[in-house]
Amino acid sequence: MRLLLVEDDTMIGEAVLDALRADHYAVDWVRDGDMADTALRTEDYDLVLLDLGLPGRGGLDVLRSLRARRNTVPVLIATARDAVGDRIAGLDAGADDYVVKPFDVDELLARIRALIRRSAGRAEPVFSHMGVTLNPATREATVNGETVSLSAREWAVLEPMLQRPGVVFSRAQLEQKLYGWKDDISSNAVEVYVHGLRKKLGSDMIQTVRGLGYLVPRQ
Ligand code: CA
Repeated sequence: MRLLLVEDDTMIGEAVLDALRADHYAVDWVRDGDMADTALRTEDYDLVLLDLGLPGRGGLDVLRSLRARRNTVPVLIATARDAVGDRIAGLDAGADDYVVKPFDVDELLARIRALIRRSAGRAEPVFSHMGVTLNPATREATVNGETVSLSAREWAVLEPMLQRPGVVFSRAQLEQKLYGWKDDISSNAVEVYVHGLRKKLGSDMIQTVRGLGYLVPRQ
């Protein structure tokens, strides 16, 4: 899963970045509204963590323009404790949820999981398909009830496909789940992780769609 972190405060930004990366998210961090707007126009994210008080263009403005483009990416806003008006304006401008600074990191991670789950059309926290079960909160994976150990990057490739069986993901889309801007991308990375996943989950679990990408079959 790939997240955009929009935060101008260096200390908060670094702390949140560390926590998100430790929880295996690929994260891009930008520090002002214009950079956030550019990132949202050019990259695909699974969720945006948006500070509202930013230098230059404000977070609310970025959010309104995002929704005006009919972009449905989940947005979690972060506001100061006394800024109830900002929270209301943020939710009414299309944010999905908010956290109040200073926020508890574990609560932040749980809210992120909940929003990503809802955006994939799921209410249940654990999801299963064709005998494979993933629990994003504990990061436990099982195959036919047996625990299987997936690397963070194997998980990152599998999770979006298992959430949407039958949907084809291009190699570029899956690469985006793996890396932030500052990471190197080896050209065959996705193939390597798909190969590893097939060995662990069974070769039927991920199908190659020639010229298009990969999918987890509906059944
Ligand atoms: Ca700020």
